[in-house]
Amino acid sequence: MLQKLSILLFVLGIGCTTFAQDAYLDAKAENKEKTYVGQKTYRVKTFKQNFKAKKPKNIILLIGDGMGVTEVFSGLTANKGHLFLENFKAIGFSQTQSADNYITDSAAGGTALSTGKRTYNGAISVDMDKKPLKTILEEAEESGLATGLVATSAITHATPAVFIAHQPQRNMYEEIAADFLKTDIDVFIGGGKAHFTQRKDGRNLVEELKAKGYRYEEDINKIKRVKNGKLAALTADIHNGRVKERGELLPIATKTAIRILSNNKKGFFLMVEGSQIDWGGHANSTIYIVEEMLDFDRAIGKALEFAEKDGETLLVVTADHETGGMAITGGGFDTGSVTAAFPTHHHTAVMVPVFAYGPGAEEFTGIMKNTDIHDKIKELLLGK
Ligand code: MG
Ligand code: ZN
Repeated sequence: MLQKLSILLFVLGIGCTTFAQDAYLDAKAENKEKTYVGQKTYRVKTFKQNFKAKKPKNIILLIGDGMGVTEVFSGLTANKGHLFLENFKAIGFSQTQSADNYITDSAAGGTALSTGKRTYNGAISVDMDKKPLKTILEEAEESGLATGLVATSAITHATPAVFIAHQPQRNMYEEIAADFLKTDIDVFIGGGKAHFTQRKDGRNLVEELKAKGYRYEEDINKIKRVKNGKLAALTADIHNGRVKERGELLPIATKTAIRILSNNKKGFFLMVEGSQIDWGGHANSTIYIVEEMLDFDRAIGKALEFAEKDGETLLVVTADHETGGMAITGGGFDTGSVTAAFPTHHHTAVMVPVFAYGPGAEEFTGIMKNTDIHDKIKELLLGK
């Protein structure tokens, strides 16, 4: 359709010729992106379902940005019928609407998960009057728990930002970076170095973090050796690249953050984001979505390894919204190939899945609101 339209524009000479040619090439490239061709799969382990405690000491919230049921199923197909997610027996659905829109963005969707309050699209943990809303990470910190954030995007991007920052607009990256210094977060790993070091106000937040006692790293091979203390790790100027560039960054960062945080006897709260499933959706690229979905699932696998051994850790996997209205139109478990169609380049209104594993998992079944996920986490982790 796009292709035909571009050719028509080109032939009629409407608009600039180069634009028409570019659009034609883009449409062709986009069609190629619609099919993920099956590749090497990874082995999925089955984890025990008996847990030591009734209530969790630690909670790890894993957010697949833009991850609807179809995105999960595209990954399940690509890995030929198995995902680490299969270990989650308590499953529900989350309604993702924001306070001012039927279709949320990641800022408002994330704020609902982090604060239990719905707000306007673009808000970073502030209410409709732009007043700060306390986040679950801040509450956990106040209760003496260790806290952490992991993302493949800039750590200042909406999803991680809503757990630690309070700003009226999501694109206030430098203000969001400065908000990290107002907390005692123990570990954060993601991109966004430029927002900490190349700032209009001339501050160098990396130096300030070091002065506060943080160990600072940029190289995942060094990050993965850190066992304790406070860690600030910025692995890209803005966002980390796609999986083929960044490799196992997300699973390794997840494992590292858990190891550091688990030193706290009182427990911990960690948020891990598979940031770029959403970007694959915006690009209408099945290939991008599947690569990111499988990477996120491998990070979930790292969390499961810890949770099984620990017995007092609850894992909650969900999304802030779906992106692209992805529909699977072809593929097979035998080949691991997936073809999809997309009605939009934007977010959609549909419910997203909620998966839980560990003590308290049964709370996360049925249809809930995005804000309920926050309330349940808070009740289970902090008893309030
Ligand atoms: Mg995000
Ligand atoms: Zn998005």
